[in-house]
This record gives sequence, structure tokens and C-alpha cells, in this order.
Amino acid sequence: MSTPSPSGAPLASGLNLAQQEAVNYMHGPCLVLAGAGSGKTRVITHKIGRLIQAGLKPEQIAAITFTNKAAAEMRERAKSLIGKSARGVLICTFHALGVRMLRQDGGVLGLKPQFSILDSDDVTSILKDAGGSTDAATARQWQWAISAWKNNGLNAEQAEAQAANDEERTLARIMARYEERLTAYQSVDFDDLIGLPLKLLRDHAEVREKWQAALGHVLVDEYQDTNATQYEVLKLLVGERGRFTAVGDDDQSIYGWRGATLDNLKRLPVDYPALKVVKLEQNYRSTSAILRAANNVIGPNPKLYPKTLFSELGEGEPVRVLDCDGEEHEADRVVARIQSLRAGGELQAVGSQYKDWKDFSVLYRANHQARVFEKAFRRAQIPYKVSGGQSFFDRAEIKDLCGWLRLLTNNDDDPAFMRAVTTPKRGIGHTTLQALGTFASQYKLSLFESLFSNSLGTVLPAKAVGSLHEFGRFLNELEYRARHTVGAEDARVFLTDWLKDIDYERHLYDAEDSETVAAARWSNVMDFCDWMAQRCGGQIEDAAGTTLEKERKSMLEVIQTIALLSTISEREGEQDVVTLSTLHAAKGLEWPHVMLIGCVEGLLPFKLDEENELGSNAESIAQRLQEERRLMYVGITRAQRTLAVSWLKRRKKGRETIAGTPSRFIAEMGLDKTTVKEDPREKIRALRAEFAKRAADSAAAQALAEAKTGH
Ligand code: ATP
Ligand code: MG
Repeated sequence: MSTPSPSGAPLASGLNLAQQEAVNYMHGPCLVLAGAGSGKTRVITHKIGRLIQAGLKPEQIAAITFTNKAAAEMRERAKSLIGKSARGVLICTFHALGVRMLRQDGGVLGLKPQFSILDSDDVTSILKDAGGSTDAATARQWQWAISAWKNNGLNAEQAEAQAANDEERTLARIMARYEERLTAYQSVDFDDLIGLPLKLLRDHAEVREKWQAALGHVLVDEYQDTNATQYEVLKLLVGERGRFTAVGDDDQSIYGWRGATLDNLKRLPVDYPALKVVKLEQNYRSTSAILRAANNVIGPNPKLYPKTLFSELGEGEPVRVLDCDGEEHEADRVVARIQSLRAGGELQAVGSQYKDWKDFSVLYRANHQARVFEKAFRRAQIPYKVSGGQSFFDRAEIKDLCGWLRLLTNNDDDPAFMRAVTTPKRGIGHTTLQALGTFASQYKLSLFESLFSNSLGTVLPAKAVGSLHEFGRFLNELEYRARHTVGAEDARVFLTDWLKDIDYERHLYDAEDSETVAAARWSNVMDFCDWMAQRCGGQIEDAAGTTLEKERKSMLEVIQTIALLSTISEREGEQDVVTLSTLHAAKGLEWPHVMLIGCVEGLLPFKLDEENELGSNAESIAQRLQEERRLMYVGITRAQRTLAVSWLKRRKKGRETIAGTPSRFIAEMGLDKTTVKEDPREKIRALRAEFAKRAADSAAAQALAEAKTGH
């Protein structure tokens, strides 16, 4: 969290009594169960310091966060609290921990240390192949179903045994073929990053004992959003001593749709009878007006654990409701509100120090809602970033390059091979590749291994074999260089040479109709190279231009870590820009000013009445409504000083425009009618924004900006 706490207290300052109790309880299992903004994450960071003070080595402590971004933030917080020794602490997500375990010990499962991690697109295309379908939508459905099986600890055989009908049986067989391919490609998918470590710990006593001995204490943030497999991993990591600290809030459980289960919270006291439960009641984040709205909204949900939450930050500004004609009007009103709050007139009561761009965030239910806002922000020259949307690594050009790099660390990665051999095109045609594929599967070789097989000449003409050999030799040389390239400076030379050799810039310009789009893509490539080079260490410059000496790594080592990163800059929170974020990605974060947009039935709560929904019944709909309500609660509780919620009188649904109804959650906030009237100053600003819109930048500048943000 980049903003100071609402009380203005520096991060390193105090803990209340309940927080201290949780921090000082070090020799057994501990659960901190408390509402939003009550300092749960703060307990984790302080406890890391306390454990080190009590004699644990930093390397003996693991703190598990929900996202890479949260991990980066916690590292920063820990560093400012305990200094350099924070570096040794393992602060990462469950998935990153899984990667570490598999790279170290995956050998006993037959996995090479350089295995590849497949992204969702790779998985879809492998499934298409395994299931004999050309339809991506069907393959994605299979992906969901298989992922659910995997999360429940089922392999293909078990899935087939418990299949309820022919459809499920067929799917289980597709899963078996999918798993075979993954093994052949020495690849794992995201579910495997949790499932395989579980298998390692459960079935291999020596690995389990090693990890249990290595870890003195494990801390888990956002515990309410762990799934059953993650809980099993945690249990096996901490062993019978159960030295762990879990912190969470059942009212903020918002990943039920991805298999997270509140059962994990219920089971803790049963599985660990010695569990110490600490409850926190003071919210240090939000004003009373905001907290009251939050408490009112979550009220109707059934309670797993009763909780009370109070704030001493004063009543503060009333929560505002913005009625908007449509999406564009909504965006204009938000622009006007940001400008008005920065001008500061109405904020006497709550202090006017929160006027930086980074003090503002716009939160929404679904990614597509950001687009209108991005346009309005660009027009009004408001700097912003979109988080939780399409990640840098989802862009085609970055995926191309990652495909190449993956292939260098894992020659068996066939999907990466296909991407590299065809991007840019190098005169190796479809028929050649098809023949190579058939040959490889016939002899149970990877595509790369097949390149050098003596009998390849029996299935392909000499010319084709020649081009394939040339490609193989190029890869081998590249791998050799990557292994011997160490430090940022050499890494830059390596990357530049490589891109020149494959003529990637020309490929981008050939592939794109618009030169501006191609230029934006190329500039993404440059950003990527710069970022990769920095990770190779040595003498590097930080954002402020200061030269630092960082630990040197080889290009090949760095390449092995990239698959898991979802954003190019782990420290992007530092930039002074407005945040546009989905509610899901906003979990755990806070901003002085929050605008929660699109609070309209059908968006928030999200389509509850979806027709054709499989297995939709009254109970599942009620459960989904409860999860949507928790999402609203998460959104409201991100706000420190001011909160506005907006709804649309007309909204788009597919190609149609339909009448909008204010979200039921707005009524549930129980706002005083006198506080929701419009502010005339905002109207004036909206008019100005409208004026600015007409004087919009040239179409070329827009196209460039759009291409840069990937839309
Ligand atoms: P969430 O449920 O949203 O994850 P949380 O319970 O993890 O919230 P934190 O993010 O740890 O809460 O804390 C919320 C804010 O309150 C932070 O700005 C934090 O620095 C501040 N805070 C927490 N505890 C204290 C305290 N004892 N004194 C002063 N400020 C505090
Ligand atoms: Mg938190």
C-alpha cells in the first residue's frame, strides 16, 4: 500500500493489543479473523520481524500472499520495517512457492528442473488437440472442468471412475490425453503448481521432512480465498507442530468460483485444536460513513463468525451516489469528480492532503468496463494504469518472445517450439511441421529432439530437413549464449542480437496494417527486453536514475522465472497514476478516494438470472448473490476518505441498450437520502470535461495509446 494510513501514522508505528497478541504468539497455530482494514496484513509484516527477532533465520520464514503484486508490496513493507534481512524471507504466492518446490524436488515426480509453465492459451490449444476439436470455446469449457477436477485432487483415472454420464467420461479421457501431452512436453499448468507440490509432500516423506525442517513459520494472507489443495499443502508444510499464522476475513471470500472454500476456515479449529484465534475490531482504514455503508451491505449475508468493526477516524464525507445516463456520462462524471476532489474545495473536513493521482481508484466488476474510462482519462489527460486486466504477458508480441525463451530452458516444450518456429516465419511450412509432429509422436520424441533424428530424412525431403537443422542449430547456439550471458549489460547485447537475428521488428511491421500499432508493439518489446536485462543484475539503474549493484544472474536463470510473472513491473504501485481495477484485483489494497462504478443490476450483482446456466437452482443463485455481496463489501472497504458509487440509467447488454436498475447493494448501504444529492460543482466540471472532449487529441495519438494498452 503506497498511501500512508488514514491516521497519518508511519508504517513502522504501533500495533493494538490484539495485533500484538497475534504477533507474539509464535509457537503454535494462530488464526487472525477480522473484517476489512483491521490490520491483518499488518500483523503478518510485523510478525515476520518478530520471528526474526526471536531467533528464526529469514530463510526459515515463508509468507504467502494472494498475488505477485501483494507479495511485492509486502516485501517493501517488510524491508522498511526490518531492513535488509527481509530479503531472505520467502514472500510469494502459493503458485510461486509451488514452482520453487518443483524446481528443487520435482525430480522425484519425473519433472526436469527446467520444466515449462503453460499459460491458459497454451492449455486451450493442447486441449483442442487432445480432444479433437477446433472450437476454442469448447476447449475452454473442458479447461474449466478439468481444472475443477484437478483442484479437487482427481486425476484422469479417478475422474473417469466417478463420472456421472457419458459426457463426463469422454472428458475424463480427454484429460488423460492432455496429461500425457503435458508429461511429454515437460510442462505443467497453473493447477499443477499446487497439485504437484501436494503430491510431492504427501507421497515423498524425505521431501516433506526436508521442507518441514527448513520452515520455522509459515504465514498466509487472505486465507479465506485458499482452496482445498492449498490448505493440504499448508498442512503438510507446517507438519504437526503447526507453526503458522493465517489471517483472513470470511466476508471477503470472493474466489468461490475458482474453487476457494470457506471450509478451510471452518476446518482450522478442528484440525488444530490448539489454534489460537485472535479477532481484531478496529478498522484503521476508513471513515465511519464508509464503514457503516460496508457493514450495512454485508449485514444480510449469513455469518460464519460474528464480527464487529468500528473506526475512530470520524464521520467523514457522506458516501455519494452518482446517477448516470450511460457509460460515457459515468466516465465524464468520474473525471469531474477526480478533478473536483483534487481542487479540494469540499474536503476541508477530511483533510486535503490526498490529492495525488495515486490517491484515486476506479473499481468495477468486469474488465470491459475500463475501456470507456481509459478513453475519458486520456482525453482529460489523467495518468492511469489498468490493473487486473490484460497483463503485459498476455500480449501477442510478448508471448512470442516468451515462447522462444521457454524453448531455450526446456527443449521438450512443444507448444513453445511451434510458436518459435513459426514466429517470425522462416520458410518452414505447415506440411513440414505436420510431418515432424507425426514423426515425433510415432517415436515418442519431442519436436526438438526429432529435428536431429537420423531417420527424419525418411519422412521429409532434404531441403525441409536442412531448414529444420538450421533452426535447431540456431536454438542450440542461443541457449549456449543465454547460459553464459550474465548481468544487465551483456543481457542487453544478447537480447538485441537475438531480435536482430530473427528479424522480429520487421515481422511486427509486416504483420500489422497500422504502423502506429506496430510501433507500439515494438516499444512493448523494448520494455520487455529492458526489464529482462534488469533482472540479470549487475550495475542497474532504478526508477530514480540511481545506479545500484544487484546480484548477477545468467540470462537462462532469469528466463526460468518469467512464466510466473503477471505484470512487468512488480512495483508499479509507486507510480503517481489513477488506478483502474477490477474488484477482484483490488483485494487487500486501499486508496483515499474510491469510485465504485457500474453499480447496476446485471453487472454488480453480476448476471444472477443467467439462462441456460448449468445446474442453476435457487440455492446456487443465493450463494452467488452472497459472493457478489462480499465483492461489494470488498469494494466499499478499499476506500479511506471518500467513496462514490455510480449506476447507469441505460446500459449496454451485448449489442442492445437496455434500461438499468440501481444495484440492490446501493439500497443495502442504507445511505441517508439527504446525503446523496448531486454536487453542482461536479456538473460544471462535467461540462468542462465535455468541452475538453471536443478538443480531443488527434486520431493518431489515440490509436497509439490504444495500441499501447492492448485494446
Ligand atoms: P484487508 O481486509 O482489506 O486486507 P487488513 O485487515 O489486511 O485489510 P491492513 O491493510 O493491514 O488491513 O491495514 C489497513 C490500514 O490500517 C493500513 O493502512 C494499515 O497501515 C493501518 N493500520 C493497521 N493497524 C494499525 C494500527 N494498529 N495503527 C495504525 N494504523 C494501522
Ligand atoms: Mg490485508
